Amino acid sequence: METKKNGTEAIPYKIYLDEQEMPTHYYNVRADMPIKPAPLLNPGTHQPMTAEELSGVFCTELVKQELDNETREIAIPEEIRNFYRMYRPSPLVRAYELERKLGTPAKIYYKFEGNNTSGSHKLNSAITQAYYAKNQGLKGLTTETGAGQWGTALSMACAYLGMDLKVYMVKGSYEQKPFRREVMRTYGATVTPSPSDTTEAGRRILAEHPGTTGSLGCAISEAVEYAVTHEGYRYVLGSVLNQVLLHQSVIGLEAKTAMEKYGIKPDIIIGCAGGGSNLGGLIAPFMGEKLRGEADYHFIAVEPASCPSLTRGVYAYDFCDTGMICPLAKMYTLGCDFIPSPNHAGGLRYHGMSPILSELYHEGLLEARSVEQTRVFDAAQYFARIEGTLPAPESSHAIRVAIDEALRCKETGEEKTILFGLTGTGYFDLVAYQQYNDGTMTDYIPTDEDLARSLSRLPKME
Ligand SMILES: *Cc1c(COP(=O)(O)O)cnc(C)c1O
Repeated sequence: METKKNGTEAIPYKIYLDEQEMPTHYYNVRADMPIKPAPLLNPGTHQPMTAEELSGVFCTELVKQELDNETREIAIPEEIRNFYRMYRPSPLVRAYELERKLGTPAKIYYKFEGNNTSGSHKLNSAITQAYYAKNQGLKGLTTETGAGQWGTALSMACAYLGMDLKVYMVKGSYEQKPFRREVMRTYGATVTPSPSDTTEAGRRILAEHPGTTGSLGCAISEAVEYAVTHEGYRYVLGSVLNQVLLHQSVIGLEAKTAMEKYGIKPDIIIGCAGGGSNLGGLIAPFMGEKLRGEADYHFIAVEPASCPSLTRGVYAYDFCDTGMICPLAKMYTLGCDFIPSPNHAGGLRYHGMSPILSELYHEGLLEARSVEQTRVFDAAQYFARIEGTLPAPESSHAIRVAIDEALRCKETGEEKTILFGLTGTGYFDLVAYQQYNDGTMTDYIPTDEDLARSLSRLPKME
């Protein structure tokens, strides 16, 4: 196929970058935000967390990145770039077949992050966090995992660097996805279902909510508790934090470089939003242009109707974890003891949202939509049958809205260019697909009373 770089010639199904075109620096969108995301607060004093306080939980270099609102570009260490070279650059795919089937004049692209064993984008930050911890001479890490992608990604990173790893896995997923656990154990991690009776936080949650299937918030409490009570351990988080969005900027940087090679400019950029890391990373360099007034884009965050932090939450300081031991973050939240129904998109079952995305959303720079689970799986099945890839339920939220937007273009005749993040594959989500195929999948949407209950328990701020 003949390709030229003037934007009018044929664009290949897959746009790959050469290794030397991969980013050498992470892009820190906070540097271009006129209003910075609100700082993390000490839960006791309500004062901004200092670097010293944060270094009890996170390793030094990551604390620096977490607090750095000014440095636009942060170099990616060569060792991390070498690890990236084993599975990156990830392809940018033109969904020609999907466009044809939909009969839309829209041009649809997706950035596919599922091309590694962990099956998602999470490896991009896992390796970076583990690398800095190792550099600091730490022995091991602790973390939580929902659907299991983050735990798997971190297991891979820790195995590569020779570090110990303790994973607290949301109980519902632990039971639904026994094979996830075995992947993590194969990479050397210890996996405990959460809430468990191995920590204070776990025992307290079990006493208050007997029989709970758990949540990311509970699992975070347990993992943090283990880290702060064991010498040589630190806690790492797979989403939400500023540092994680920073690492995930490789997704957007690669996508932007690939599009520019062919003179393509997206009109609409869509991503699913759990804690906000893949979306934050995908949109980062585009949002930077928007913030600097150089270009305009329409950004859409897609969340499950069962856990609608942006669309139905409030913008307030809240705990990042159900156990209320983590710092307070100002974010769109449903309340830290909101335990969402067991939606199958485990990676999207988080009560809060990245402070960066929350601030951008608050300023109207980002749109948010919530979608119901069965409509998400309609899109997942449609996409799998046409484009071949079996998508993760989380990613399928973005597919749903990309299809909705493409169908809108069909009505209006607009030839918009749509870019969405296909964050991962769904091989470990077959219980969910089974329910969908059997017609037993349900859509649970919390009532206003449900939300009011958990929101009434937000921490009181002066
Ligand atoms: C974890 C996960 C997500 C959601 O997390 P974000 O931090 O919001 O990106 C989305 N897709 C997949 C496949 C995931 O594993």
